[in-house]
Amino acid sequence: MDLKEKDKKYLWHPFTQMKDWLKEEPLIIERGEGNYLYDTDGNKYFDGVSSLWVNVHGHCHPRLNRAIHEQVEKISHSTLLGLSNPKAIELAEKLIEIAPKGLTKVFYSDSGSTAVEIALKMAFQYFQHKGLKGKTKFAYLNNSYHGDTIGAVSVGGIDLFHSIFKPLLFDSIKLPSPYCYRCEFGLERQTCLMKCLTEAKKLIIQNRENLCALIMEPIVQGAAGMIVHPEGFLKELAKTCKENGILLILDEVATGFGRTGTMFACEQEGVKPDLLCLAKGITGGYLPLAATLTTEDIFNAFLGEYEEFKTFFHGHTYTGNPVACAVALENLSLFKEERVIEQLKTKTISFSKCLEKFSEHKHVGEIRQKGFMCGIEIVKDKETKKIFPYKDKVTIKISYQARKYGLITRPLGNVLVLMPPLSTTHEELEFITSALYKSLVDILGK
Ligand SMILES: *Cc1c(COP(=O)(O)O)cnc(C)c1O
Repeated sequence: MDLKEKDKKYLWHPFTQMKDWLKEEPLIIERGEGNYLYDTDGNKYFDGVSSLWVNVHGHCHPRLNRAIHEQVEKISHSTLLGLSNPKAIELAEKLIEIAPKGLTKVFYSDSGSTAVEIALKMAFQYFQHKGLKGKTKFAYLNNSYHGDTIGAVSVGGIDLFHSIFKPLLFDSIKLPSPYCYRCEFGLERQTCLMKCLTEAKKLIIQNRENLCALIMEPIVQGAAGMIVHPEGFLKELAKTCKENGILLILDEVATGFGRTGTMFACEQEGVKPDLLCLAKGITGGYLPLAATLTTEDIFNAFLGEYEEFKTFFHGHTYTGNPVACAVALENLSLFKEERVIEQLKTKTISFSKCLEKFSEHKHVGEIRQKGFMCGIEIVKDKETKKIFPYKDKVTIKISYQARKYGLITRPLGNVLVLMPPLSTTHEELEFITSALYKSLVDILGK
């Protein structure tokens, strides 16, 4: 049996309708180099979604590879339960250095979902220790995505993924989100006076006695189709939380590590969260690692005598894995030495220019871009904003077509996605946008 047959025989792929998968020829990636992926047949593709939003400096980067090799020669894993390790310690120090002010402690785990679970449980337990036992609920934004574990799904706002699990979820308070292209209130961004914000604030204030935290993706709601928030939305919600004694959890799993043009998206509005969730780009996209950062105040609430049981009873077996921490440290060194954030400024402008070719297309409803996150919403009719029927799989067909031009991408519903590594050059931005545009024309015409 060859690999393609064995894949179909043994594997169940995530977020994949396996009935379709079994009918198709699987693309098997054998190796990577820089911003490119190579399949088992020797074909070369640009990694247009950074291997699901994680890759930062390209694949097989000599320095990142070396950091892993060197750590493996020492030890590959030892536990943080009752022991410590140098790389976990050094990385924690570096994360605190670059994180928004006020965050002073790092709790490790291994995926975005676990980083979120930890933030939710910390926020909840914090108020239990503080004697505010009624503060047990979470607020979240419509269309939000915080991961696939049950706690994260309980604060998830994408019905397509989340509604079937309703009976398993804890009750949370949904706030309107600024998805301006399809405004929940039927308004226009220029004249709406941010009604979604007014409503969200109202709901927070109404529920202030019961709310322990608001969780949100700052500036860009990724999985929802790259919804870019209007200026001031985050800052105002942060202010409302602070004034009403509600913690703010920012999920920067997707937006963190330069994605939106600053190291963390919340910097753009000068917002300092009480809990910050990091994963995806933390290791440059090399190994699974996540971190939940929090404040001295929250940390201190868990201090007590052993027998008081104020301990945070939570931990994943591979927490603080030294190999993952070693490569994360090297990732941060590269950010600094190669001035990655600085270079993103002009690259982001190039990217916007390259995206202009989409704007006149009759099936492009909206182009949304912030830094190196981009979503192109495809509609059947620009006037009515109606989408193509799901069964037509239009965005899937366009994304598959792009492989013929040497580009790997994966859509989000009716939204085409470009999320290239931060190491993408100006020329490559032109290449990937052209490849995607040609694919769009191939499937939907001019
Ligand atoms: C991807 C993502 C997660 C989940 O991360 P996993 O590592 O897949 O568990 C959580 N929040 C946001 C904003 C994400 O984009």
